[in-house]
Amino acid sequence: ESPYVALSSSDSSGNVWELESDDCISYFIKKKLRVWCRQPRGQWELGVIQSASGEEASVSLTNGNVMTVDRSEILPANPDVLEGVDDLVKLGYLNEPSVLHNLKLRYSQGMIYSKAGPILIALNPFKDLQMYGNDYVSACRQRSVDSPHVCAVADAAYNKMMRDEVNQSIIISGESGSGKTETAKIALQYLAALGGGGNCAIENEFLQINRILEAFGNAKTSRNNNSSRFGKLIEIHFGCMGKICGAKIQTLLLEKSRVVQVASEKLNLRAVNEYKYLVQSDCMSIDGVDDSKNFHQLMEALDAVRICKEERELIFKLLAAILWLGNISFQVGRGDHIEVVDDEAVTSAAQLMGCSTQELVTALCSNKIQADEDTITKNLTLRQAIERRDAIATFVYANLFDWLLDQVNNSLEMGKKCTGKSISILDLYGFQTFQKNGFEQFYINYANERIQQHFNRHLFKLEQEDYELDGVDWTKVDFEDNQGCLDLFEKKPVGLLSLLDEESNLPKASDLTFATKLKHHLDPNPCFRGERGRAFRVCHYAGEVLYDTNDFLEKNRDTMSSDSIQFLSSCNCELLQLFSKMFNQSQQQSVATKFKVQLFKLIHQLEGTTPHFIRCIMPNTKHLPGIYDEGLVLQQLRCCGVLEVVRLSRAGYPTRMTHQEFSRRYGFMLSEANELHDPLSISVAVLQKFNIPSEMYHLGITKLYLRAGQIEALENKRKQIL
Ligand code: ADP
Ligand code: MG
Repeated sequence: ESPYVALSSSDSSGNVWELESDDCISYFIKKKLRVWCRQPRGQWELGVIQSASGEEASVSLTNGNVMTVDRSEILPANPDVLEGVDDLVKLGYLNEPSVLHNLKLRYSQGMIYSKAGPILIALNPFKDLQMYGNDYVSACRQRSVDSPHVCAVADAAYNKMMRDEVNQSIIISGESGSGKTETAKIALQYLAALGGGGNCAIENEFLQINRILEAFGNAKTSRNNNSSRFGKLIEIHFGCMGKICGAKIQTLLLEKSRVVQVASEKLNLRAVNEYKYLVQSDCMSIDGVDDSKNFHQLMEALDAVRICKEERELIFKLLAAILWLGNISFQVGRGDHIEVVDDEAVTSAAQLMGCSTQELVTALCSNKIQADEDTITKNLTLRQAIERRDAIATFVYANLFDWLLDQVNNSLEMGKKCTGKSISILDLYGFQTFQKNGFEQFYINYANERIQQHFNRHLFKLEQEDYELDGVDWTKVDFEDNQGCLDLFEKKPVGLLSLLDEESNLPKASDLTFATKLKHHLDPNPCFRGERGRAFRVCHYAGEVLYDTNDFLEKNRDTMSSDSIQFLSSCNCELLQLFSKMFNQSQQQSVATKFKVQLFKLIHQLEGTTPHFIRCIMPNTKHLPGIYDEGLVLQQLRCCGVLEVVRLSRAGYPTRMTHQEFSRRYGFMLSEANELHDPLSISVAVLQKFNIPSEMYHLGITKLYLRAGQIEALENKRKQIL
């Protein structure tokens, strides 16, 4: 009499289990089962079907109204007992309103975490929930809480690393402002507590490092008051006994056109609003942010990673120099020559950088050109001079950030030899789409496309292939494959990235010629559409994005003239000399190429790990607690294919071990009199002895497949025996 048999299993819009047949509708009417009924404005309300005829049904809603709707507007709702389940896998009906309702109910009760099969879903609470304190951490370690939580994910990663001796990764994704960086910090803190073995110094050091990275790499944006402007991968190394023995941070492309604010007398500094670079942002203070307190914490943090007083002074000198550079203005002088306005800005900048005012002026206004034996000096135009000034400022800032990261990494090596495995935490800028999308969105979305493929591979492809290879009966689950979009970016010689590099190398090229070239070479392509003028459209896994090629070539070239580099090397400042030396040593690649190389390295590293996925969700764009915008949440859930994952993991066997592995780990739990030797027989005996029901596992040719929850039960028994 179960309605499940009468329900179709899925449709293309992602609504799983809809009320299809007449039998099914009758069953719902007879049993007075709850349904979701779509309202004129798109939201879903609970109700009970009263009657149905033809394509229409009359539904009595819980708010008292009765409405007649098309049958396609009705979906089955879950029974009361399944209200607010902690894992979406447990839902009987897995349609969108049921998932949304379940997450909403939990959110309203302060339960921001839920599982979707193997993924942890984290809704940003936008308030302190007091669920990360020491008490919580120890409760989590003793397994006295078993609700979904970031700490539980970190704990699982740690245990799996220790048990399987395989590197692990925690991959955090989500839109800007959804809580990725906070989530990464919580995971890091938990692992520090777990692997620090009561040594608070390590916990403290991680905390300090986050302060430094955030002080220099974060900025306020419209989406997030403390938005990371770089991607990062933190790799924590553990010794054989599970104690932390070091860590390493890799960053991915800092969005470097931003500047931090600091105030101190010695550096000829003025009030914030006197700096043009800062004034543009139109934001001098943020509610709830205490700049002076943060500054003191930053100083402590720099101290903690052993950046000495002299170095700290150097850092702030350069930051001040950058601010003054921004205030340098130009005027047209005699014979149309560009001159620097002789004021406090240029003298202060020069003094802080360690050069004479004249040297700085020359560097900003002229170009040296080598003609045979002679060097000719050519004056820059106003536009060129401004570009040069800004290029120097961003170059210094970006190098300062990288240098700081090197110092942090040096201090994290901790001087010990690491013998064990590692856990990496990835906090990458999420998929972005605005009205107008530029070069930054272009590479950020490309990176997300790659991460999404990693996700797909693990959760769908590998899973399915594995089952098929091992003879497991398995109904295929469709999933969105984004290889087509990745090809659009990466194909050589006609992909977005190679065409961008090619065009960047042509002296006469412009953003418009680039856009035209794309249309010429890439149309028609299901993932690409040329638009009018400089625009083009890409169909990403998460939706269509319209890009404007304005400044693409310039930003991709990211040139520093050799004159500027020479100028920096001549300054009497250790750091500037170092930066120019490093520039000369590096191969001068385009930004797109450099980014692709970094990204491939990162993905390659992740491929050697067992991944744990956390998907952060922003419940509202107002940054306020308690508001749950269904449309916004749904769009984010759809983006990452949560429903498909749940469907797959419910149907599948999330745990698998070879018979050897399984028998080695659990075989000892059989009685001593046991005469069995071959791994398969031992596995079978263990399963029987501990009453694992036969529908909960499948014996493959090489591996044993277990349904969700079974391995945890066995692990508990194993612990009791040990
Ligand atoms: P993202 O890195 O995804 O852009 P953040 O991690 O910076 O987003 O989070 C944005 C803001 O949301 C934080 O500054 C904080 O105010 C709030 N927030 C995020 N996660 C939590 C959490 N677990 N508890 C409390 N507040 C949070
Ligand atoms: Mg962030």
